Formats: sequence, structure tokens, C-alpha cells
Amino acid sequence: MATVGIIGAGLMGKDVAITCAAHGYDVVLCDSDPSVRQSAPAELRRLLREYRMMSPAAAGWDTGEVLGRIRVDEGYAELAAADWIVENIIEDYAAKEELYLGLREVCRDGVKVAVNTSCIPITKIAALLPRPDAVIGMHFMNPVPLIGGVEVIRGFHTSEETVRGAEAFAASLGKQPIVVNDMPGFVSNRLSHLFMNEAAFLVQDGVAEPEQVDAVFRLGYGHKMGPLETADLIGLDTVVNSLAILYDELQDAKFRCCPLLKKMVAAGRLGRKSGHGFYPYLRTGAARVGAGVAS
Ligand code: NAD
Repeated sequence: MATVGIIGAGLMGKDVAITCAAHGYDVVLCDSDPSVRQSAPAELRRLLREYRMMSPAAAGWDTGEVLGRIRVDEGYAELAAADWIVENIIEDYAAKEELYLGLREVCRDGVKVAVNTSCIPITKIAALLPRPDAVIGMHFMNPVPLIGGVEVIRGFHTSEETVRGAEAFAASLGKQPIVVNDMPGFVSNRLSHLFMNEAAFLVQDGVAEPEQVDAVFRLGYGHKMGPLETADLIGLDTVVNSLAILYDELQDAKFRCCPLLKKMVAAGRLGRKSGHGFYPYLRTGAARVGAGVAS
């Protein structure tokens, strides 16, 4: 079975690792932070247990087999064996640039690289590698094992072979690919960050409490989650970083970040992952309100 190298073992990297391993891939999961690597095995086990309880499709996954296919590693030497690399490090272009320049030495010819970014243009990242035709965006949605679709982003140089490979890879993970062209934020986040940001402005301006803002979306529009619950799920630090990229790349004032979001990040209120965002969360990461799914 093919090997998938996953870089970044945060919120998304762990989810992508579980999804790949559950669909039979051997997985090498890398992270530069020793504490993340140390906690990853227990976190993977906890997440897998949750997904098996939450989804009938995941209920049949064998915990021992899935976890047995995931190897947590420090360095990138192991990535030389990978058929696909899925990169999920922090949403910061400078960090991604440094990583990709290092990958030039490691990636074997023929490896396909899937960039799981929220907003950074795929073309800009592909330019850092010697084979930009083999680089594509695969924007997995959170929580990955429970979501049926993946946004596939065709960069300027992405070859048709790579697009077809990404479609087949997505299908092999039980996901429907939605292929779009490259622009900052693609389709999903160019839209979703506008409503999450504006929802934060509504709270900042005292128009409504978070509960009311989200209730309008859930009860009024029939969305599974409101924009502020979604922001908490994604991580407010990632939302702030993504808005900065959209603002910078598109030079459009409508993406200016709400000061309340920046203030919450400075205060350590990052959402579910820190135990508190617009809402408080239980220690397990379970939501106090509106547990659902989001992108
Ligand atoms: P996160 O902060 O939870 O995790 C990022 C991980 O990357 C951390 O564990 C960090 O230690 C690691 N890291 C940083 N620099 C590294 C390096 N040079 N090498 C290896 N590891 C490194 O972030 P996340 O929410 O998992 O997001 C990861 C990526 O996925 C971002 O680009 C984000 O925009 C994108 N994304 C996030 C979501 C979401 O809902 N959070 C959804 C889709 C896509």
C-alpha cells in the first residue's frame, strides 16, 4: 500500500493521518515540535475513539490497525518513501516557505505534494519546489474523517496528471473532490472568512451575543453551525492568520481583521483547542454548545 507523508501534526495533520490510515495507507506523521510529537499517539487514539462513536462509517475502523499504520516522526528523511505528501503546518507563508525549501532535498521525483492551506495561493507555494506541476491544493475540511468533500485547487502549473491523481487520492479516502482554480482563499475560505469576520464585528459592536449570531445561522438558515462556532472549531489564530493573507494578497479592505479576533488571540482564547473562544469548552475538546461539523 502507498505511503503518505503528513507534515504538521496539529488539528488538521492528525485528522488527515487518521483518515489516510483508516483507508489503508501507511502514514508518516512529522512535526517540528517535540511536545506535539510526544502527545500525538494519545491524541490520535482519543480522536479515533470519538470519530468511531460519531460516524457509522468510522464505527467499523479497527483502532489497532489504524493506529498501527501511523508512525510519528521528527525529521523529513522518512518522507523520501512517500507517494503523496500532505502538508498541514501553521498558516504562515514564511514558515511554509522555509519548510518547502528544505523539502527540495528530500522529495523523490514523482512524489505528489498536497498543500492543505486555508488561504495561501498554491501557485506561490508550488514555485518553491523544482516540480510545480506535481503540487496541488487539497483543502481538507475539519473534522476531516467526518466530512464528505475536499476542495482541490489547481495551481498555475499543476498538471492534469496531478489533478487526476488528487481526485483519485480523495476518492480513495472516501471523499468527493471539488476542483477549483487558484486564488487566495479559493472558494471556501474567501467566503467563510467574510462571514466569520463580520460575525465577530457584530459581537464587538454589541449588536448581538455569540449565541444569537450563531442561532440566526443554525435556526434561520439551517446551517449545521454558526460562524462563531465555526471560528472556534478552526482556531481563532488560524482565522486571524488567514484574514491577514486574504487582505494582503487581494488588497481588499473587506478582509480587514476584526480587532476583537486579534484581541482574543492575544488573550489566548483560540477556540476549542485552547478550551475557550467565543464559547467555553469541556477539557475533552467537546463543545458546550452546538457540536457539529464545519470547514
Ligand atoms: P495547528 O496550529 O493546529 O497545527 C500546526 C502544526 O504545524 C503544529 O503542530 C506545529 O508544531 C506544526 N509545525 C509548524 N511548523 C512546522 C514545520 N516547519 N515542520 C513541521 N511541523 C510544523 O494548525 P491546523 O489548524 O492544523 O492548520 C494547519 C494547516 O491547515 C494551516 O495551513 C491551516 O490554514 C490549514 N487548515 C486548517 C483548517 C482548520 O479548521 N483548522 C481547515 C483546513 C485547512
